[in-house]
Amino acid sequence: MVHGSKISRRQFLSLSGATLGGLVLTACTRTTGSQAVEKVTAEPAVRDANDALQRLQSGNLRYATNKTIDLNQTPRRRVEVARGQHPFATVLGCVDSRVPPELIFDRGLGDLFVIRTAGQVLDQAVLGSIEFGFMELGIHLIVVLGHENCGAVKATIEAVEKKLQVEGSVGYLVRSLTPAVEKAMQAEPAETGEEPDVPFDLVAETVDTNIRMIVDQLAASAEFSEAIVAGTLRIVGGRYDLDTGLVEFIA
Ligand SMILES: [Zn+2]
Repeated sequence: MVHGSKISRRQFLSLSGATLGGLVLTACTRTTGSQAVEKVTAEPAVRDANDALQRLQSGNLRYATNKTIDLNQTPRRRVEVARGQHPFATVLGCVDSRVPPELIFDRGLGDLFVIRTAGQVLDQAVLGSIEFGFMELGIHLIVVLGHENCGAVKATIEAVEKKLQVEGSVGYLVRSLTPAVEKAMQAEPAETGEEPDVPFDLVAETVDTNIRMIVDQLAASAEFSEAIVAGTLRIVGGRYDLDTGLVEFIA
């Protein structure tokens, strides 16, 4: 009842320009966005995983070059997706406040199926959510999104190096990320006595290793492996650069 009366009030307001005050002001300040949404509403349906990835890449480029068009972020889009959602990509990302998927891919309501945990740790609840997106919502692209300078990764490296026993739920995160740290440590080149061209960066190495391990883990799961072979699902790994705003797809 409440919902219905709100809609009819908005419809009424849209017909009576004289009383629009605040609503018109909002519309004016977001003219660019509104025009973009008109385009997006007419945007062709996402064909496949490659098409989905292409849209994320172009959105990220707009974001990184300060040319965002705030796709699908209007009240009109909100009403449209209230009837049902058809997100075109699942994003498993970190909780870091500087890496919100909708912003960095310049997308909006109903576009992305987002799951975030510290260090994008993959556990049963996360896997179940990703499976839900694939099986119930028909999403053909899964993006594992790590990022530069990840705090969860840094904390786990510290725990491993100092042999700390971290308790509680944070300890669960540390234990989940430890295999990536240990694998990254093995990638450190042996001492040769010479100064390397690029110094080994354990945090960066672990961030990439963690992304690749999660992609491999998902790709090997019974639910997804067949779909990947059949070409109906793609799982990719990306690393977000905090300074440039660009996502580099590395796996
Ligand atoms: Zn992080």
